[in-house]
Amino acid sequence: MPELPEVETVVSILKKNVIGKIIKNISILYPNLIKTDILVDEFKNTLINKTILDITRIGKYIIFDLGDYVLISHLRMEGKWFYINDLSLVSEKHIEAIFSLDNGYYLIYDDTRKFGTFNLELKDEYKKINPIVKIGPEPFNEAVNGIYLFELMSKSNKYIKTILLDQTKISGIGNIYADEILFDAKIHPESKTNKLSLNAYNNIYESSKKILRRAIELGGSTISTYKAGHGISGKFQNELKVHLRKNEPCFVCKTNIIKIKVNGRGTYICSNCQILY
Ligand SMILES: [Zn+2]
Repeated sequence: MPELPEVETVVSILKKNVIGKIIKNISILYPNLIKTDILVDEFKNTLINKTILDITRIGKYIIFDLGDYVLISHLRMEGKWFYINDLSLVSEKHIEAIFSLDNGYYLIYDDTRKFGTFNLELKDEYKKINPIVKIGPEPFNEAVNGIYLFELMSKSNKYIKTILLDQTKISGIGNIYADEILFDAKIHPESKTNKLSLNAYNNIYESSKKILRRAIELGGSTISTYKAGHGISGKFQNELKVHLRKNEPCFVCKTNIIKIKVNGRGTYICSNCQILY
């Protein structure tokens, strides 16, 4: 599943290729992709002849700026964007949408699992409505720091990993990076949020920024469940300290990494380095 660093990588690749291009035609092969209450023809008519002015990201949503409208794309489990000039390069089976561009290239949305979504909203309004209005700030947001996390999270008694994954609280941390952040902060993922000190939240905040920044630098992680696009692979998987390292020795203390379940999510920890609060 793509997380913030992988989505950031997709955005930067798309930006290089499609900004300034005009959408000349659209085929929607899987209409359920579109979550806005709008007919497919209306969707197409709204977007045809629009120029792609910018591509940005809010949490794990990709925002295509099309002037008065924005197309909001969420990749969920397996969604991918391809920029190609030959449709025979991709397997037709999983293509859900094809945007023909004015330079002869195609921007293709492909999704083997069919969980990804499109929303089409007015640019003036989309930040005030779902799905974007619910998204919490990212660790990089100026308003976020250890005190912010402490005040936001210490009133409940959930597991810290569960609340880090809650995109309405803080956005952009998914399963891989939650494991890596909590290892870096030396905190057990099943620590209760109301037991953690301000100092612990400061550590979580610093580790979040550090891990996500490094992952973005390396283009995200390419692991079995996710590839950013054709021929694109991230390198952060080589720096994973706990995630997917079951039965391998901890880099700090040599204790074997174990895999547990935290609220149903596979979770990798060093039971020696990570303290349970
Ligand atoms: Zn250890």
